[in-house]
Amino acid sequence: MLSEFDIIQRYFNRPAPGAVLGIGDDAALVEPSAGMELAVSTDMLVSGQHFFADAEPGGLGHKSLAVNLSDMAAMGARPRWATLSLALPASMARENEKWLEAFSEGFFKLANAYQVELIGGDTTRGPLNICVTIIGEVAKGNALRRRGARSGDDIWISGHLGDAALALAHQQNHIVLEAGEIEACLPALNTPTPRVGLGQRLVGLAHSAIDISDGLLADLGHILECSKASGIISMHEIKCSAPLKKRLPHPLALKCLLAGGDDYELCFTASRSDRPKIEALSRELALPLTRIGKIGKGNGLVVHDAAGETVTLDTRGYDHFLT
Ligand code: ADP
Ligand code: MG
Repeated sequence: MLSEFDIIQRYFNRPAPGAVLGIGDDAALVEPSAGMELAVSTDMLVSGQHFFADAEPGGLGHKSLAVNLSDMAAMGARPRWATLSLALPASMARENEKWLEAFSEGFFKLANAYQVELIGGDTTRGPLNICVTIIGEVAKGNALRRRGARSGDDIWISGHLGDAALALAHQQNHIVLEAGEIEACLPALNTPTPRVGLGQRLVGLAHSAIDISDGLLADLGHILECSKASGIISMHEIKCSAPLKKRLPHPLALKCLLAGGDDYELCFTASRSDRPKIEALSRELALPLTRIGKIGKGNGLVVHDAAGETVTLDTRGYDHFLT
């Protein structure tokens, strides 16, 4: 049986040369680089709410950090340090060290890829619950915000939308995917790629940004509310995978695309005159960046289909208390 100390030592204590002080004292110490502000964000993954209790632990380690990295991306920040608070059922510490091993491997593989250092956390017994806090840096006054969209801006999104929601719909037996289709969509749900590089490159270019975690309509809606602006988007411009495209305009497929959640792509707005720069950035990062609409005056969000008809949906996105 592992003690709390064993768990921390064996699975989570790693060197953190970028911090003044890492794991082992009552608090970690960090010093921001000159001229930088700290960006701090927390995201919690709860068993039964965000993932199935028997979810593959390596994927959980990855995802618990990825969703936080995505928030750094949305702010244009460079992620630097993280803390990890874990509530673990006794059985996992007692019989199932493999769980901790795979979880920490998934976590650190992603952390290392972005040079993020784990500098602290908390470990307690309880129903499985994973809470990561991330700390990043962004040049003073330069963080990307939700509130900066201007009338006339283009609305852009990165990557594809809807695959994570489609994979989840399959797992919940709302839709049946073929084996090859599940294989194509599952990585979006289990091991999303946060757009960290893109976020930092959008500083000084995008007027507003958000990461799409609760569905495009909900998250673009936040940009519009914060910016006191309206938006109009063309659904057919949104890139999506072949399995999802094939099922459009079935209401469930529409919901996956526009309000699915768990996409972890970025939605941002920028001047029309910056189109060439954004197109060049897309080629450089080998990441689709697609113009899906425009910001206007007033308020509200309108979605058009290929025929120019208005698309209506009974939900805008995921809400823990309304769903
Ligand atoms: P305290 O009693 O002051 O809360 P702990 O014994 O909980 O301290 O933690 C000891 C050290 O291990 C601290 O530096 C804490 O930040 C770190 N730590 C605890 N749990 C984790 C974890 N899951 N991941 C990373 N660091 C952790
Ligand atoms: Mg503690």
